[in-house]
Amino acid sequence: MIGFLWFVYIVVCFLLMLIILIQRGETGGLSSAFGGGGGETAFGVKADLTWKKATAWFAGIFMLLALILGGIMSNEGGSLAAAAGAGIGLTLLPVLYMTSDFGGKPPTPGQRRFLGTPDAIVAMIDALRTAHPEVRLGLAPHSLRAVPPDALADAVRAVDAIDPTAPIHIHAAEQEKEVADCVAWSGRRPVEWLLDAHRLSPRWCVVHATHLTASETDALAASRATAGLCPTTEANLGDGLFPLARYLERGGRLGIGTDSNVSVAAIEELRWLEYGQRLAARRRNIAATASSPSPGATLYRAAIAGGAAASGQRAGGLAPGERADLVVLDPDAPFLAGRTGDTLLDALVFGGDAQPIRDVYVGGRPVVADRRHPDETVIFDRFRRAIARLGGA
Ligand SMILES: [Zn+2]
Repeated sequence: MIGFLWFVYIVVCFLLMLIILIQRGETGGLSSAFGGGGGETAFGVKADLTWKKATAWFAGIFMLLALILGGIMSNEGGSLAAAAGAGIGLTLLPVLYMTSDFGGKPPTPGQRRFLGTPDAIVAMIDALRTAHPEVRLGLAPHSLRAVPPDALADAVRAVDAIDPTAPIHIHAAEQEKEVADCVAWSGRRPVEWLLDAHRLSPRWCVVHATHLTASETDALAASRATAGLCPTTEANLGDGLFPLARYLERGGRLGIGTDSNVSVAAIEELRWLEYGQRLAARRRNIAATASSPSPGATLYRAAIAGGAAASGQRAGGLAPGERADLVVLDPDAPFLAGRTGDTLLDALVFGGDAQPIRDVYVGGRPVVADRRHPDETVIFDRFRRAIARLGGA
């Protein structure tokens, strides 16, 4: 849709220029078109009036399209401004969404506002990349049911041409019905299809990857793509459990995120990830390995490394050249008392609901100091008003 609007916008631009230039030659130019003195014309007074009307119409369409496109682009601009204001090290992945189901089923009316084309999305990525060099840009083809194979290949190829390291995120194997529909469509399961059709690598993040066979689990781990797990979302939606034990045994890479914003607490995600597995398997310490016997520390480090890979940011730890994205824990938090090394990370992941983060640094810049963000009153107030508007209150 956005690609079509851009196309029409450019055509109207050229037509408007053409009309004005013709009048410059025939009637004395732009002043005449907007009612100034043009004098006699080659086409007479009637023709002159027709030109004026055409100019006014095209100018009106031009302004309308500019407003619509400006509004669409400002969605991304809003994200950028909000991230800059809050102090978030942003990786922005415009979403490609085209169809309602496998096999190119047309979108539903409710999905219209998400729709785009590979060309339009990639043009947006390129434009944002140029305008905002401080932001990491990548691509999010929503899912195999929302993006047909050819469009997915085109979009990946086009993004590769701009930045072959740009992160790519796609939701896959989130629900059993989606897996069954994918098999009916292609004879393959979603992650199996992706592994066959694309060279998955560390720049890819397969979001959810909940329903995997043993061979898919092994192949996804071997690809070095990140499994983007959203444990509280998957629990909230009743979708299922990721095969964590086998995946970690195979050295698979994981990150954590949220797909519904039902909770946005990173520590809670890690806790749910481990506890869900324990409850299902009826055993303890699922994420513990021989080299890292502490499950909290294992998950924390895995999520940091996977998160850095999936976001395309150098944010993997305290090392030269890495981003200084840091949190400082409150040494006075009671549940951290006496904890050091990996047991500190275990206490952090499993130790209750207290919020132990005291300071936050983003790119070396202090953003939260002594539990306070300098603009938090304004930000929370704006958030409440936005929610009220959305709810019609
Ligand atoms: Zn999802």
